[in-house]
Amino acid sequence: MKKPDWLKVKLQNGAKTQNVNNILVSLSLNTVCSEANCPNKMECFERGTATFMILGKNCTRNCRFCNVTQESPEEVNLDEAKNVAMAVKKLKLRHAVITSVTRDDLADQGANQFAKVVNAVRLENPNVTIELLIPDMQGKKDCLDIVLNSNPEVLNHNIETVKELYLDVRPMADFKRSLEVLEYSKKTKPKIYTKSGLMLGLGEKSDQVVETLKCLRSVDCDILTLGQYLQPSSKHIKVKEYVSPAQFDEYKAIASDLGFKSIASAPLVRSSYFAEDLIDSF
Ligand code: SF4
Ligand code: SF4
Repeated sequence: MKKPDWLKVKLQNGAKTQNVNNILVSLSLNTVCSEANCPNKMECFERGTATFMILGKNCTRNCRFCNVTQESPEEVNLDEAKNVAMAVKKLKLRHAVITSVTRDDLADQGANQFAKVVNAVRLENPNVTIELLIPDMQGKKDCLDIVLNSNPEVLNHNIETVKELYLDVRPMADFKRSLEVLEYSKKTKPKIYTKSGLMLGLGEKSDQVVETLKCLRSVDCDILTLGQYLQPSSKHIKVKEYVSPAQFDEYKAIASDLGFKSIASAPLVRSSYFAEDLIDSF
């Protein structure tokens, strides 16, 4: 299937990109921008921003759309928290987005590392807002509590796709469990904004998308991102449809009617794309 023009990205590789790369390399940090082969990497790096990916490069899950390496997990890096904090400072970020691979192998699911990173970032950058994009932590409430007690401004957990496609697209994940992560977060810490997102073009029907948005609102999810799935390599699940920009606009209008406080819906939107703008209005 030929990629439509609306998915073409502008080539950029200027001084700011070099600066971001230098900082990341000098502090041995990973980004989901690189590991997931995000189409917006050139744009975001040239804006001087990136999304940190902690707890190594290797994921214990096998989502069929994801470019992150699916191999044995790495040792937890004890310097990671202070290195992320230093990178946030050097990049002069006003909003830091931090995600991780899924660490089913760790008893705490990586929750303590998330909390350590939040604390270190706050200590070094007291005015920065923090958004955590977390895995489902197997729905373990004690692990979620550790993350929530670090008090990020935004708790993001992507539902990724409609429930009808989970078995095919995310065989090790669970739609209901992901919803419960968002529900538990909002009930436990109502002041933390919850955020979620879907990739479209995996074969979902529009009524299934709308139903998923309703599910997200039923657990009081505040912020929504919708973007087009792009196949990272021939090994990954194929794109079934290039959803038109007009259809993304339609979903945005529906999401707005359903009560989401902030919505980004466009082909190249990703979970952390212009993340700071989505909380500006709050
Ligand atoms: Fe990185 Fe997010 Fe930008 Fe993609 S959209 S390059 S993941 S900051
Ligand atoms: Fe990729 Fe996240 Fe799935 Fe791991 S859990 S394979 S990082 S989408």
